Amino acid sequence: MNWFQENLHPTVGQTFEIDKILYEGRTAFQKVLIFENGRFGRVLALDGIVQTTEADEFIYHEMLAHVPLVGHGAAAHVLIIGGGDGGLLEEVLKHPVERVTMVEIDREVVDLCREYLPGICRTAFEDSRTDLIIADGTKFVAGTGERFDVIIVDSTDPVGPGKVLFEPPFYAGCRAILKKGGILATQNGVPFYQGAEFSAAAASIRSVFAHAGFFVVAVPTYAGGVMTLGWASQDTDLAAPDAGPLERAVARLDLDTRYYNAGVHQAAFALPGYVRDAAQG
Ligand code: SAM
Repeated sequence: MNWFQENLHPTVGQTFEIDKILYEGRTAFQKVLIFENGRFGRVLALDGIVQTTEADEFIYHEMLAHVPLVGHGAAAHVLIIGGGDGGLLEEVLKHPVERVTMVEIDREVVDLCREYLPGICRTAFEDSRTDLIIADGTKFVAGTGERFDVIIVDSTDPVGPGKVLFEPPFYAGCRAILKKGGILATQNGVPFYQGAEFSAAAASIRSVFAHAGFFVVAVPTYAGGVMTLGWASQDTDLAAPDAGPLERAVARLDLDTRYYNAGVHQAAFALPGYVRDAAQG
């Protein structure tokens, strides 16, 4: 029997039985492994860390997309940073947006996911509203003249090429290209295991934005309790939305989702004590 051992944390790890390896190789930026597992279906690992799986990708991608987009209420132009597998793009395109610009550093990840994980991106890359740009997210954000209603950072962990996406210069770049009422959303890992990284990213985002906070989601493959997703804005408070208007907004959108709904949206802003403490640094 062949097992994949993830080594994201120094003293604990998780393993997946490998039924079959579909692809194994190295791009200019990272090691890529795509394999089949009996419970999770096809699994994508980058640099030995599980990024997404066919079975549970909907949980993470739905929450990272729909909470900021529903919270914004009228997003026309959305920017995704990272997200090479296309799962987040697919969720964002469920909204009546005019354009989604996706900036991913590694073209090979996109190509491999389209080939081996088509069930995750579906037809998102062929959608006429999608504009895929292959570039480093920090450089794009620093140089673009475009402005966005919502920016969503679907990054790898704060090691390797994704490290810069958790630091103040990148957040300041995002602040500069958000329109009035604009919202930034981020992935911030599992605070039980990644407390120091979480606190550092929380301090960075607070140093740049007038309003910032977190919401939680439980994703089976991101083991270790709840995962935190972040939001930040200069002029919009996303936290604790009122139940009535939220329910009506979600009903109007009629999103095809399996995890996200108005109740989950509202409840996600209730932070467990240890998460709230870690978020304060
Ligand atoms: N959707 C995944 C999940 O469910 O966890 C998140 C991982 S997604 C595959 C992360 C992507 O971020 C990778 O494809 C990686 O190439 C990309 N990335 C890392 N650093 C980047 C950077 N500086 N600029 C743009 N994309 C970056």
